[in-house]
Amino acid sequence: MTQQTSTPNLHCIVIGNPIAHSQSPALHHAFAAQTGVALRYQRQLCPVDEASFVAVIEAFFAGGGTGANVTVPFKQTAFDLVQARGTLSQAAQAARAVNTLAWQDGALYGDNTDGRGLINHMRELGWDVAGQTVLILGAGGATRGVVWALLDAGAAWVHIANRTPAKAQAIVADFASAPLPAKLTASGLFDVPHRPFDLVINATSSALTAEQDAPLPFDSQLRAQKAYDLMYGKPSRFLQFFAAHGAQTSDGLGMLIHQGALSFALWTGQPVDLAALGNPFAH
Ligand code: NDP
Repeated sequence: MTQQTSTPNLHCIVIGNPIAHSQSPALHHAFAAQTGVALRYQRQLCPVDEASFVAVIEAFFAGGGTGANVTVPFKQTAFDLVQARGTLSQAAQAARAVNTLAWQDGALYGDNTDGRGLINHMRELGWDVAGQTVLILGAGGATRGVVWALLDAGAAWVHIANRTPAKAQAIVADFASAPLPAKLTASGLFDVPHRPFDLVINATSSALTAEQDAPLPFDSQLRAQKAYDLMYGKPSRFLQFFAAHGAQTSDGLGMLIHQGALSFALWTGQPVDLAALGNPFAH
């Protein structure tokens, strides 16, 4: 049900390169319709260099912008900007990546809602990670956000496996100074410890580039009870593989919706009722 509009126009953007494919405007307009917030939300293409990103963000907030989602390839640039000039949430500090920018108390605020978006979606699925063993394939920006959220949600062991092992090891090293409540380890994609995992997460972008008949980019002996692919919107060979070996599976559309709802609540103070919303892309 659409409520009465009660707030002045808010203006938000999603900034990235490329950006034309982003579903975020439809998502946030559905949130706005449900909560009665008057919101304009647009895609913002930005040249891929740090100076351009900083100039666009400065101009946006100087002009009265409310908030920005940050996507590929700028999440680490946004982290550097807020680290130098603003305040970072605990999630953004742990991830060393920012996907949500806001203007709070006269300064930039940077958050990372990716990991909590994943955990909230998994809770909706009835997947509790407390005490679980988790394998993450990939060590990019998304993995950094997800690792912190998994540890925060009580996972017992998180193992990160990446094509370039040094990047997985660098994430583990970044967490070394924090008192970790769980075991955190790293390896190459084909050197994963030989044991079944409770949960395996695909956080690689291999499906975007690999040929359909290319070998799977992980050891075919891997097994897990549950498999989650951060990717969404197209068939997943990762999910097909684990489903064929008896796993429960989910793609990442729910994570996208949940991370968006957290950003929206930060900007507007309005929680989104996702159960009542249904499919936001049908609006
Ligand atoms: P990055 O570009 O930061 O990282 C990509 C990762 O994929 C790297 O670890 C890279 O390995 C690995 N990779 C790329 N190609 C291959 C390949 N052919 N074989 C094996 N590994 C490969 O991307 P992000 O971390 O930002 O995003 C990862 C995925 O998660 C994307 O599909 C993205 O769309 C999705 N995502 C979904 C979200 C959601 O809300 N559902 C939110 C955020 C991301 P290497 O280090 O060796 O290059």
